[in-house]
Amino acid sequence: MRYLHSLAFRLTLLYAGIFALCFAAVFGIFYFMMETDLNRWVDEELREGVKDIRRAYEISGIEGVRRILDREASVEEGRFLGRIVDGDGAVMYETEGALKDIPLSLELANAASSGVEKNESIWMEGDRIRTIYTPLENGIFVQIGLPPSEHEIWMQDFSRDLLKVGLIAVIISVGVGVLLARRSLLPVREMARMSSGISALSLGKRMPVSGQSAELDQLAVSFNSMMERIDTLVKGIREVTENLAHDLRTPIAGIRGLAEITLNGNRTSDEYKLTLYQIMERMDCLLSVCNSVLDESEADAGALALNWETVSITELCSGIIQTFEPVAADAGQKLSSSISSGLMIKGDRGRLFQVLANLVDNAVKYTPAGGTILLYADRSTSGNEVVMIVADTGAGIPEKDLPHIFERYYRGEKIRCGSGTGLGLPLVQGIVKAHGGQVMVRSEVGKGSMFLVVVPVDEEHVSCELSSASQTDDDPQTHFEFAETHS
Ligand code: ADP
Repeated sequence: MRYLHSLAFRLTLLYAGIFALCFAAVFGIFYFMMETDLNRWVDEELREGVKDIRRAYEISGIEGVRRILDREASVEEGRFLGRIVDGDGAVMYETEGALKDIPLSLELANAASSGVEKNESIWMEGDRIRTIYTPLENGIFVQIGLPPSEHEIWMQDFSRDLLKVGLIAVIISVGVGVLLARRSLLPVREMARMSSGISALSLGKRMPVSGQSAELDQLAVSFNSMMERIDTLVKGIREVTENLAHDLRTPIAGIRGLAEITLNGNRTSDEYKLTLYQIMERMDCLLSVCNSVLDESEADAGALALNWETVSITELCSGIIQTFEPVAADAGQKLSSSISSGLMIKGDRGRLFQVLANLVDNAVKYTPAGGTILLYADRSTSGNEVVMIVADTGAGIPEKDLPHIFERYYRGEKIRCGSGTGLGLPLVQGIVKAHGGQVMVRSEVGKGSMFLVVVPVDEEHVSCELSSASQTDDDPQTHFEFAETHS
């Protein structure tokens, strides 16, 4: 029963059906042409007979016709029909022989009585008899019939044999079709067997690429690359879960420790207040971890709720510099900036802050002490966008990581052990896209990275601010020349 639903069975059925249809069409055309030719030959023969009958009728009347019919019947040894019928349809005379049983067609008889000659084919015991109704005078007509000639019998046998051969060919084609379909689908079944054997524990398994069939190899390659992505994603999720657990454990352990110490002994109200303050700080840390996970999944689903307002990118960048200056200083890095004045866009201030904070945080994280981080903001040359650049002279991103860094949970190969969730850049991209902009990256290992964020300007502010916007000479692209651009 399962075989009836299989692709092999359907393919076989389809091929056999198409083959049978083609054969039936060719046979039908052949048979039609053959029958037309045969009818023409026999009709010519019958017409010769009709000529003799008319001549005999003109010379000796009905008696002459009878003689002609008898002579013909004896020549054909009884395999001939000659019948004279009067205007009322009564048989006046008919020859003896096997064809005597051929019925008189009322329709053709009427036509012949009224002077119209007609032909028809009648099947008798598997033979096709051709008859002609030819009018004489006063409604009297003669019906003559001829059995199939040797030639015709051969043709009929030939078409019967052809039909049998066709049927045998259809049966053979079904058998061969089953074998071929099963054979050609064998690798597909093998793939299905292998893929069903792949579980969460065996994600490293891959399909063999045999090189025997381009389509199946393509399928195997696509399947393998899908497995590659699933494998990376699952590994990423495992790492993120571990990182998340780690990120959550530190503040939770801190909160527990603080509570334990505070409970052991009497404390002044100021000490209690201090403890509560420290607990709040750690809770904020917990909240920010939870929020980054939730934010990223909202951004990924395109459901990020934005609080639209006019935002000054100039002020936002100053805020970022103030926030990260001490952090960069702690890490031994120099945080410099080049920010044009009066850069206004329509957007969500908090979310845009998150974008720059994530990029600068990454720059700090992935740049060794002594490195430089630059925050640059200006209007694009067309004046329609605001361009923000966060560039660093840090580790750089390996070429193989570059196409994936905006994927959820993706973390660079080399720095997987460090803190992070792999959710920062996907969130950055989600927020920027929600603002109608785009993020691009250029990076080179050992030289550094440059993240470029482009967002449309707030049209209302363009005209009045163009005059006040000062152009900066400090174009980071001149400081950071990197090879690749990815978006
Ligand atoms: P993470 O939490 O790991 O920082 P992100 O999504 O912010 O996650 O970044 C994804 C990956 O991109 C990082 O793991 C790192 O490999 C790479 N990356 C991002 N920013 C930088 C940078 N400034 N320098 C080098 N690598 C970076």
